[in-house]
Amino acid sequence: MATAEQKIVSSEKNPISDSAENHTAGNASAAQADATPLDVLVIGAGPTGLACAIEAQRAGLEAQRAGLRVALVDKGCLCNSLFHYPAHMTFFTTSELLEIGGIPFPSPNAKPTRDEALEYYRKVAAHYRLDLRQYLRVERVTGSDGDFRIYLRDRFERPSLLRARKLIVATGYYDLPNTMGIPGEELPKVHHYYDDPHPCSGQDVLVIGGKNSAAIAALELWRHGARVTLVHRGPEMHRHVKYWIKPDIENRIKNGEIAAHFHSRVTHIGLDEVRLETPSGELRLKNDFVFALTGYHPDFEFLASLGVEQKGADRLPVCNPETLESNVPGIYLAGVIVAGARTNEIFIENGRFHGGVIAQHLAQQTPLARSGD
Ligand SMILES: Cc1cc2nc3c(=O)[nH]c(=O)nc-3n(C[C@H](O)[C@H](O)[C@H](O)COP(=O)(O)OP(=O)(O)OC[C@H]3O[C@@H](n4cnc5c(N)ncnc54)[C@H](O)[C@@H]3O)c2cc1C
Repeated sequence: MATAEQKIVSSEKNPISDSAENHTAGNASAAQADATPLDVLVIGAGPTGLACAIEAQRAGLEAQRAGLRVALVDKGCLCNSLFHYPAHMTFFTTSELLEIGGIPFPSPNAKPTRDEALEYYRKVAAHYRLDLRQYLRVERVTGSDGDFRIYLRDRFERPSLLRARKLIVATGYYDLPNTMGIPGEELPKVHHYYDDPHPCSGQDVLVIGGKNSAAIAALELWRHGARVTLVHRGPEMHRHVKYWIKPDIENRIKNGEIAAHFHSRVTHIGLDEVRLETPSGELRLKNDFVFALTGYHPDFEFLASLGVEQKGADRLPVCNPETLESNVPGIYLAGVIVAGARTNEIFIENGRFHGGVIAQHLAQQTPLARSGD
């Protein structure tokens, strides 16, 4: 696997032609437009990425009066993943555990809603005057520690190029659902993201999964008038289902209000029905919508393209736990991606501290000072 350092060899020969070759013709000037190198570029403006940018900015201010040039890019909006969470969701976590940058998160609710969290992170980004560049997707990176080149595309597929001395990758896991590989999964009625129950009112809905997302979706859909069947390959709802949600879903199942099939799996999704393999044989159920809430995973290919090695079945990215620097010098990892496929180990609650760890290591590196931009 080629590391980012190895890739610089080819790009260094002719970096602009490299950009022109991979970014449509006539865009070399766009690619050159922001040629002044940043000290730190954070990829991903979720809660973790924001915390990283704030801490890197602060570390810069403490270490050198001028501060560091820190920017964030996100392929979507600020906190793009949170924005795509269910519209009426309430976080599992109390608001103080979602705080970043030492800014209090006041909420009248015991647990804040998605809208409150979005407002909070917007305000924090504004307070710290973060250099946030939205709707820019990082496609690939070349270069090496001290001189990375970051190739981007905007919403209209226009290319651009940034240079940065250090990279922090905080790209989360919510963009890539774990698919099941069953016939019919590609039908438009099958959703890997649950948003709003209203369109499913009066419809036959199958929810696949046994964890929090599946339990919450099943309950909300049922409460909004859908006929809900839940199917899970495990023997019961997962033990990690939150203690205030578990009795609710279990009682709805016990009362027959939500049908449930455990030790079961979906084998086929048709336009008007689904087929299940259950301990009592094959079942065919009338069906209008399917919510396959079977989890998500980080973009392992993107990490590999950066040269970040991954170990074991859980594809744990190689990084120093003391500094969060990956095996590629100058590339740091932050947030949920640090745990590879074990996406239930790092949340906002603990991922928000990664910024401090990385910033401490950045501050020790002297000089990160600019060399005559
Ligand atoms: C429904 C739901 C409820 C949850 N509730 C809680 C809770 O109560 N408490 C808690 O602590 N955790 C909760 N979590 C988990 C938590 O939200 C995630 O662990 C957290 O968002 C991870 O933060 P992050 O910054 O690492 O990643 P994300 O928030 O996913 O941010 C990653 C960002 O990177 C961007 N990105 C990805 N690839 C690229 C690219 N190539 N170029 C540019 N940008 C890119 C994405 O657009 C995204 O904005 C919940 C998760 C879900 C799904």
